[in-house]
Amino acid sequence: MYKYETHLHTFPVSKCGRAEVEETLNFYKKEGYDGIFLTNHFLDGNLNMPKDAPYLERINFYFSDYEKAKELSNSIGIKVFLGIEISYKGTDFLIYNIDKEWFSEHPEYIDLKMSEKLTLLRSAGAFIVQAHPFREAKYIDHIRLFPRLIDGVEVINAARKESENKLADIYATEYNLIKLAGSDNHRGGQKKLYDNGEELKKLAGIKTEIPINSVEDFINIVKSGNYSLFYEEKR
Ligand SMILES: [Zn+2]
Ligand SMILES: [Zn+2]
Repeated sequence: MYKYETHLHTFPVSKCGRAEVEETLNFYKKEGYDGIFLTNHFLDGNLNMPKDAPYLERINFYFSDYEKAKELSNSIGIKVFLGIEISYKGTDFLIYNIDKEWFSEHPEYIDLKMSEKLTLLRSAGAFIVQAHPFREAKYIDHIRLFPRLIDGVEVINAARKESENKLADIYATEYNLIKLAGSDNHRGGQKKLYDNGEELKKLAGIKTEIPINSVEDFINIVKSGNYSLFYEEKR
């Protein structure tokens, strides 16, 4: 069995990240993962750089944590794949199979509305997963769903409530969308202290029988259905 993280943030690229790349990779290695997808917040999300900085400067900064992770991948012994979390007012999508080169050549991306972004990214070969679609939070005005413009749904997000995940699962089933799970981990191996006083590390992801060696492998495997979802709480 091979374990993969599909939804992961690091500091400094994600402003809300609490752990740097090296610490994060070491944690996943220790936990026995074969690989991780680093899905930091993109230029339209919680990127740790002012919005008025030049587009290419922001792109270079965006990919710097991924490049760092790629460099450390061999010495730590964990595979690193690229993912990108794009955002519109708290409605988030995980994008797989689009790289730095594509974004460098498409600065028009940033001014499109979300439905246009999803359409453009898909035409460029993206595999798109709506992250935590039923998340409710103070900063989210309303829930937005894009069932016709995505490939999959994050039906287990380890950072969200069970009821929100349950609704996401129904959403995926009824629209015949691929089901994924991820941790939305912002703090490497550091545990979070919950309101009830419990200190927990919640992890979710996918398990496969054959190893994933590329983003294309990942897409083919989840499309074929030869994988399972997992969710665990560590005290
Ligand atoms: Zn975040
Ligand atoms: Zn996230």
